[in-house]
Amino acid sequence: MCGIVGILGKEAVATQVVEALRRLEYRGYDSAGVATLEHGLLTRRRAEGKLKNLEIRLSSEPLEGLIGIGHTRWATHGKPNETNAHPHATAKLAVVHNGIIENFRELRAELQADGYVFETETDTEIVAHLVTRALDRGLTPVDAVAASLPRLRGAFALAFLFEGQEDLLIGSADRRPEGLPAGRRHR
Ligand code: GLU
Repeated sequence: MCGIVGILGKEAVATQVVEALRRLEYRGYDSAGVATLEHGLLTRRRAEGKLKNLEIRLSSEPLEGLIGIGHTRWATHGKPNETNAHPHATAKLAVVHNGIIENFRELRAELQADGYVFETETDTEIVAHLVTRALDRGLTPVDAVAASLPRLRGAFALAFLFEGQEDLLIGSADRRPEGLPAGRRHR
C-alpha cells in the first residue's frame, strides 16, 4: 500500500513531505513524488525507485512551496516509472491516490470524449481530469471534488492541491478496503 501525505506549512514543505513519506516506507513502494504551489503555480518532482532518488531530484531542482502533497506508489495500473508516479496533475490541480478506481476505463473514455488528454497508464489520472472538468464547468474546488467522488467506484484515499489555492488541501477516503480484488491486495 502506498503512502499519502499533505502538509500546509509556514516554510518550504518539500523536505517535510519526504520525511513524512520516509515514515511510511515500511508499507512498500516503487516510486515517489511531491507537488507544491510556488507563487500559486503547481510544480512537482517525481522519481522511480527509492525516496533517495526523489531527494536527489529535489536537491538539484528544489521546490519552495509552503503547501504540498506527497506519495509513495505501489503500482496497480501502469508500470512503475516516473510518468506513472504520483502526484498526477492537470493545469488546475494535483492529486495523490492510494487504492484502485475500478471504473476508470469508462470514466477515461467519457473524459477523452470531452477532450481531456491522458498522459499516464494509471487509474488515478481519471480523478485528476474528472475534478478538472468540474472546475472547468465553474465549480469551486470543494464542490468539484464533492461532485466527482460519487462517480468513483473502488477503494481509495485521495489528497488534492489546487492551482492558486495556497490555503487549501482536500483529502477524501472511501470506507471499503474490502472492495480491493483479492489477487492484488494493498498491504
Ligand atoms: N492505483 C494507483 C496506481 O497504480 C495507486 C496505487 C497506490 O495505491 O499506490 O497508480
